[in-house]
Amino acid sequence: MIDWKNGQPYSLRFGDAYYSADSGLEERRHVFLHGNRLHERFAALKAGESLSIGETGFGTGLNFLCAWQLFERVAPPGASLDFLGIEKFPLDDDDMAAALRLWPELQGLAKELISRWKRRVPGWNRWHFAAGRVRLTLALCDVTEALREMPCGVDAWFLDGFASALNPEMWAEPVLGDIGRLSNPGATLATYTCAGRVRRALGDAGFSMERTEGLGCKREMLRGCKPGTRAQQVSPSSVLVIGAGLAGCTVASALAQRGMTVTLADAAPALASGASGNPRGILHARLGGGMNALHRFVLASYGHALALFDEVQPADGVSRAECGLLQLAIPGGEEKRIAKLAALPWPAHLLRAVDAGEASALVGMPMDHGGVWFPAGGWVVPPQLCASLVDHARIVQHMGMLVSDLIPTANGWRAETGDGRMVEAERVVVCCGHRARALSQFAQLPLTAVRGQISLLAATAASEELRAVVCAGGYCAPALAGRHVVGATHLLNDDSLDVRPADHAENLAMLAAHVPAMRRALGEPDVTRLPGRAGVRCSVPGAMPLVAEMSPGLYCSLAHGTRGLLTAGLSAEVIAAQMHGQMPPLPKTLLDALQAPLISSRSRMKTWG
Ligand code: SAM
Repeated sequence: MIDWKNGQPYSLRFGDAYYSADSGLEERRHVFLHGNRLHERFAALKAGESLSIGETGFGTGLNFLCAWQLFERVAPPGASLDFLGIEKFPLDDDDMAAALRLWPELQGLAKELISRWKRRVPGWNRWHFAAGRVRLTLALCDVTEALREMPCGVDAWFLDGFASALNPEMWAEPVLGDIGRLSNPGATLATYTCAGRVRRALGDAGFSMERTEGLGCKREMLRGCKPGTRAQQVSPSSVLVIGAGLAGCTVASALAQRGMTVTLADAAPALASGASGNPRGILHARLGGGMNALHRFVLASYGHALALFDEVQPADGVSRAECGLLQLAIPGGEEKRIAKLAALPWPAHLLRAVDAGEASALVGMPMDHGGVWFPAGGWVVPPQLCASLVDHARIVQHMGMLVSDLIPTANGWRAETGDGRMVEAERVVVCCGHRARALSQFAQLPLTAVRGQISLLAATAASEELRAVVCAGGYCAPALAGRHVVGATHLLNDDSLDVRPADHAENLAMLAAHVPAMRRALGEPDVTRLPGRAGVRCSVPGAMPLVAEMSPGLYCSLAHGTRGLLTAGLSAEVIAAQMHGQMPPLPKTLLDALQAPLISSRSRMKTWG
């Protein structure tokens, strides 16, 4: 809980100030930036290199902004910064904005942080700033859990978790031991805390510690250094991305942002011609009360997708709408899941339980049931999103190119087509859904084709009342240019693209069962003449996508099922981070879960062998 004391943020829970009233930014810069020698370390980076900072106690983000500001001033073009902030008690939007208003010098950067802040979700978050040069990974959980799940080491630490006497948990020996374990060779740390116990524990964790002069109110501070020097990974410069749907376009964008030359190839003549080609996609985060690995990945993906869309496809009501989304609690079906989900302590900006009355008022149409309301949910036009993502000088599109073989070479990979063309690249990322099975390296994977058909229905005066997306088994979106999208069927092992009247009837029957008022509002369309679209999604058992390095230099982002709009962007970050030796955007457990289909198929291959 945050309080305000003499106009400064103060924690009632811990009885301590977030920062001292009169010291100003110079004191923070002295302790955290100077204490970690960041000026010289940022300036010494080369293009393609990165430096990572971990902070225990992200608080108002002030230290992050100071580090970002310095990085922008002194780091060379092409270098990047990873900042991992750990925070158990995130400030609400108003407190965050009020706290950062105290620092006029940082207003430009603060505004950007605040605009992302409203996208935060419990657990792990990943946002980009400065055209991708600065990556913020926020672990909104207890420090112990965040450190246990941290997937990589860091180069510099800001230890800023209130006074050790007031918040001993943050300075407990196992926490400080983990900080030692999670430090790269040559890592440094800095903190205001000078307690002997902390200093000794950090010494035991492998740091050479020194007590030095503070600045302003704090007369002393601690700094520490681990022996060694971290070798920077050499970044590859060229990549071939196969598949120009959401998975491929997000990967292409993430890699171009990191300075790579990207060839984006697809057998189809245009971007987003497969499952990502529907005229509208629904931003539907389906979570569960148990919050298993899939749910936690979906949640992190949802926050990431919203922030990414804010950057590349702002909600303008034409290419994207943030109209809100209702998941209906249908008795005998979704009711139990939704009751369990709604019982968890969610921040109100993310989701909340609503009864039938409130649900009706929110969506603009009578609902028979309540459910959960996602205020930031809505729809996106996926082909436009794909086009915006790959509108980059370093991305070259090769549409109409069907890659039939991938052959390892001395420098990476050669992709060959049936008609004698080829592309060479240091790295390859396969993002072509179920069609990946045609490549020998993917033939053994349990990739399943799942046909889905949507129906496009002419809006009526009554149906135009629908203001938000409603989901219950299927979904229905508000009218855009006189049409509603209603979907979608789900048929395993069928990859044909014909539009079927029976599938339209199924979509309408689903709507009639769950949202009868909307079904009535649409009148009696003739299903034999209805427009629609069929696409083929790809899934693997367990429903988690497959995001992995298959063999050296060959990666994939596959099996996003019906969730690609949500999960493709974060998956692209996983691949980009792995390829460049940067900080992954997810905790260890989820990174492992993204490779699980690969591991299980390999062990099956072994057993069969
Ligand atoms: N570095 C921050 C800034 O720039 O605004 C100020 C940090 S403030 C002194 C300490 C922060 O540690 C608070 O935001 C508090 O909520 C967080 N914190 C305290 N105990 C924690 C714990 N066990 N796990 C994670 N964060 C914790």
